[in-house]
Amino acid sequence: MGIRHMGNNVAATVKSSRLPGFYKQSLAERVAVVAEWAGLNEDERAALAGPGGLQPAQADLMIENVVGTYALPLGVAANFLINGHDYLIPMAVEEPSVLAAISNAARQIRAGGGFQAESSEPVMIGQIQVLDMPDLDAACRAVLGARAELMALADQYGESVIRYGGGARDVEARPFPDTPVGPMLVVHLLYDTRDAMGANTINTTLEAIAPRVAELTGGRVVLRILSNLADRRTATARCTIPQDALAVPDIPGRDVARLVMEANAFAVVDPYRAATHNKGIMNGIDAVCIATGNDWRAIEAGAHSYAARTGRYTALTDWHVDENGDLFGSITLPMAVGTVGGATKVHPTARAAMKLLAVESAGELARVLACVGLAQNLAAIKALATHGIQKGHMRLHARQVALAAGASEADVQAIADRLVAEGNVRVERARELIAN
Ligand code: NAD
Repeated sequence: MGIRHMGNNVAATVKSSRLPGFYKQSLAERVAVVAEWAGLNEDERAALAGPGGLQPAQADLMIENVVGTYALPLGVAANFLINGHDYLIPMAVEEPSVLAAISNAARQIRAGGGFQAESSEPVMIGQIQVLDMPDLDAACRAVLGARAELMALADQYGESVIRYGGGARDVEARPFPDTPVGPMLVVHLLYDTRDAMGANTINTTLEAIAPRVAELTGGRVVLRILSNLADRRTATARCTIPQDALAVPDIPGRDVARLVMEANAFAVVDPYRAATHNKGIMNGIDAVCIATGNDWRAIEAGAHSYAARTGRYTALTDWHVDENGDLFGSITLPMAVGTVGGATKVHPTARAAMKLLAVESAGELARVLACVGLAQNLAAIKALATHGIQKGHMRLHARQVALAAGASEADVQAIADRLVAEGNVRVERARELIAN
């Protein structure tokens, strides 16, 4: 639909997101590197590092019944090169391996020139449910006949979004003659929300135009709410990885490319596998949404419903070996994210994370997120299809096991190393080691 954006970051960056050895640095060193990279001031640096993050008094103004705040580890993924521009990616996630895996995958993708990404116009769908019409077909015709009037009416609300160039784009009518509650008409308002996720803007507009829809149809309007199946607001990422960059010990890159293609095919045909395949994609996307204050439940709902849009739940990605024997990958999914509104500008850590990410629009954020999903997926299926994930994962998981067993901060690494060396990464064994 419409024009697709490749990003307009014309200011060529001299900064590289290749940060060799970043993972080996101390926490304080990493904060310093990232703060320097993004030009963070003291407050932003403190917000990113923890102490300047969300305060209970601020949280008390965000939701109801507040008793405190809840922290998650915040990591930074390196190596992302998207449409020729370098990014450091903030990710809030409690699961070990996600950051290591994605940074590693982004490095391999970089070897092929990085990601190419594009996004559609930020057009969301708002739904109005109509029941009890005297004539469903006539109601449908009346709504379509009044498309221009309804769009003009919609544009009288959500004034500020319209100032930024957004507003109503189309009206659709979807008749359901046979539902458990009789004939139903679903009216769609297609609405460009620019840099906002747009839920509040759309819901307000829908409530405003609903009485006119009731008049036009002679029916009774019930629900007025946006759809999270935001299939008009998608982002796509692609990459081609030279086969040599894919090699792992004992397996040449050519064979790895084929193994990744086979792993993807498993998720294409089998919903049981597709659920896990797509979950891995969302490990990355959700973590960035959380870090940037975006509504990750909305993104989750959009991704999974889009994966099932043909009536059969399938993989969100395509991976295949191209004519040169290199590995081509792509992903397309709904991406209703905002750089304004929601918590993005309220949560101090989200603000600092947004500054680190340095995206200029919701479209650019959407493109970055599609790349994050593609890289996370490559990391997962490549590991699964070659040496399996447990060896690497358990090595990283061991520290969490040691913590869970009650190891002091000073002892965690030593206990974790021992668990890994013994090949016995279990809480019971960690407890024994602590006791000794
Ligand atoms: P919002 O209500 O904060 O509105 C965004 C506002 O930003 C706009 O009204 C506009 O005035 C302003 N703005 C400034 N610069 C802009 C620009 N360049 N482009 C567009 N707008 C600009 O936020 P929202 O995005 O309407 O709603 C998002 C919130 O709604 C999220 O917190 C989400 O969790 C919540 N929500 C989600 C659902 C759902 O997903 N089903 C339902 C209800 C609410």
